[in-house]
Amino acid sequence: MADITNLRQAFVDEIRDIYHAEKQLLKALPKLAAAASDVELRGALESHLAETANQVSRLEQVFTLVGEKPQTKTCAGMAGIIEEGSAVLGESPGPVLDAMIIASAQRAEHYEIAAYGTVAAWAEGLGYTDAAELLRETLDEEKTADETLTGLAEAGINVAAGEPPTTPARARTAGAS
Ligand code: FE
Ligand code: FE
Ligand code: ZN
Repeated sequence: MADITNLRQAFVDEIRDIYHAEKQLLKALPKLAAAASDVELRGALESHLAETANQVSRLEQVFTLVGEKPQTKTCAGMAGIIEEGSAVLGESPGPVLDAMIIASAQRAEHYEIAAYGTVAAWAEGLGYTDAAELLRETLDEEKTADETLTGLAEAGINVAAGEPPTTPARARTAGAS
């Protein structure tokens, strides 16, 4: 992209990227939620899916506020995170898979936190105060989603995932030696 020469252009480029990232998550989150065994984890992923739909419309408002039409640009970063996350979905349901789902979802949240932190700061710097406010609202939701996942992991899913399997006994002995 040799045609980006100012911060406003860089800003528009970044919101196109995160717009595509969010649209990819709209498709990926239901799959992660469906694969989760823990009821609270499934609920957290489903409620973040609803937030994600709202984040997409917030981004559309941001495009309008800065005089641009909503347009996506391929977000290879989120595509890679989702590709890695989808790879675990073939595993057997249970606490270990739940722990891996959390690991994958948190990577997505951290990517978003980085992206929204940047675009909120740039919007502020460019004088797009209303857009900055909308982007910070989403940033806060992403941070809360991340904290919720940490909470669920620490409240029990990691412990359950670390318990030795009840069968087969032979594998347990081998694993302990
Ligand atoms: Fe999001
Ligand atoms: Fe990206
Ligand atoms: Zn998110």
